[in-house]
Amino acid sequence: MTQAPPSATTFESLNPANGDVVGTHPIHTEEEVRDAVARARVEAAWWAGLSFDERGKHLSTWKGVMVRRLAQLADLMHLEMGKPHGDAVMEAALAIDHLNWAAGHAEKVLKRRKVASGLLMMNQAATVEYRPLGVVGVIGPWNYPVFTPMGSIVYALAAGNAVVFKPSEYTPGIGEWLARTFQESVGRPVLQVVTGFGETGAALCRSGVDKVAFTGSTETGKRVMAACAETLTPVVIEAGGKDSVIVDQDADIEAAADAALWGACSNAGQTCTGVERIYVHERVYDEFVASITEKAKGLSAFEGDDSPIGPITMPKQLDVIRGHIQDALSRGGRALVGGADAVGERFVQPTILVDVPEDSTAVTEETFGPTVTIAKVRDMDEAVERTNATRYGLGNSVFSKANGMAIAERVRSGMSSINGVITFAAIPNLPFGGVGDSGFGRIHGADGLKEFCYAKAIARQRFKPMLNLTSFSRTDKADQQLAGMLTMLHGRGTTVGPELPDRD
Ligand code: NDP
Repeated sequence: MTQAPPSATTFESLNPANGDVVGTHPIHTEEEVRDAVARARVEAAWWAGLSFDERGKHLSTWKGVMVRRLAQLADLMHLEMGKPHGDAVMEAALAIDHLNWAAGHAEKVLKRRKVASGLLMMNQAATVEYRPLGVVGVIGPWNYPVFTPMGSIVYALAAGNAVVFKPSEYTPGIGEWLARTFQESVGRPVLQVVTGFGETGAALCRSGVDKVAFTGSTETGKRVMAACAETLTPVVIEAGGKDSVIVDQDADIEAAADAALWGACSNAGQTCTGVERIYVHERVYDEFVASITEKAKGLSAFEGDDSPIGPITMPKQLDVIRGHIQDALSRGGRALVGGADAVGERFVQPTILVDVPEDSTAVTEETFGPTVTIAKVRDMDEAVERTNATRYGLGNSVFSKANGMAIAERVRSGMSSINGVITFAAIPNLPFGGVGDSGFGRIHGADGLKEFCYAKAIARQRFKPMLNLTSFSRTDKADQQLAGMLTMLHGRGTTVGPELPDRD
């Protein structure tokens, strides 16, 4: 949690497990944000002028520093955000793997390449390359304070952009750590950080950056988009989710229960692609419920270095979690593990809910706590239908030995994992992002690199055209020849559509 009076120039980040002050950080004003963006313009020109290879070497140096100071970074993540130390190491390790991929693949994905020019324009050589936009503003959340913003930062940097990063007010120290280690590694502030509250983020949207990559809640995403619309600044929105796990009758039930519980409760449930709903085939429902319940009973959240589940980072979320559980219970739901009393002052105990109506907030809204609903379905059609009955569309998981692909392909979500949870996020080759209220645009993979570029197309005449179409001296004969070619190329098998006019 953080707090500062309205006139303050600094604010404190607090340890969510006990309220201790972790660090003090500046509240950057609109003017300071603009100054940072102006500095970034200079850096962007230098950075974009380097070759892919040179940028790759700088990013590799940064990677090495991060790896050598991994324990330091994980300590800070544990203190500022609350997640267990081991989870922090895993999160940072995945981010470093993405950094490695982005730096190593940028040239292959973005460099100028030939494309076919087509029969009509065969005298042209057609090429396209992806050029950096300039300065990218990254606005990040607190729940994965390294992995999530780095999904934008490292892809934007590898593509040749400078970055100004506004971390969440709950995790400013982690943002500063990233910018500081980059500066030490590269010697220039191509990555800068600005800290503060929502106003600092809003100032970044209005600062004239060439793109904003926002990760956070759907509601804030709408405000970010509205602010960016004033200056026609493009945006990537990575927003919330209400992901499901679908368990088919042929699934490995033990593995499904184990993974679903981890997907629901790890990071105290504060995961955009966290498991919030489970739909299980009626033939294996009882077995699945017994297995996950047994496992969940052995799990608890408490203050201490060996707690497998950390505190709820954002205090106001406790009311949301309590509200969703109460709504489920007041409308006929039952808590097999946890319940309304599971919500404490800083920690929430794992909660498993069954018999919850599908229109309860526990099923329709993002809970962001270690809670999950389980529902029995008669077949996979019903599982897919219920999964898709949400305004979100971020991720999803399917457990099935034979039908995983067929089921996953029918789910309306940006990503699915089969016989695992959230595995797609750890594969740098795969694009990450959602549909609907989960946002749009993609980070990670080739799509993630291109997201921070503009396509530059060039058509170069190789020899004079047989038909000169782009001239006022074009003849009727040329028009006829074009019509003849068109018929030859595209006319066969066509039974509908207007005929070309006869010019004779
Ligand atoms: P918020 O939407 O509250 O905040 C996200 C960021 O936006 C923060 O840095 C915040 O700053 C900033 N911000 C707040 N108001 C404005 C504004 N008016 N203009 C510009 N920036 C602003 O989200 P949370 O930090 O609470 O993150 C949790 C949410 O993020 C969940 O919904 C989760 O699902 C989603 N998420 C999505 C992911 C994805 O990839 N799809 C990944 C991880 C999380 P400050 O904190 O200082 O207010």
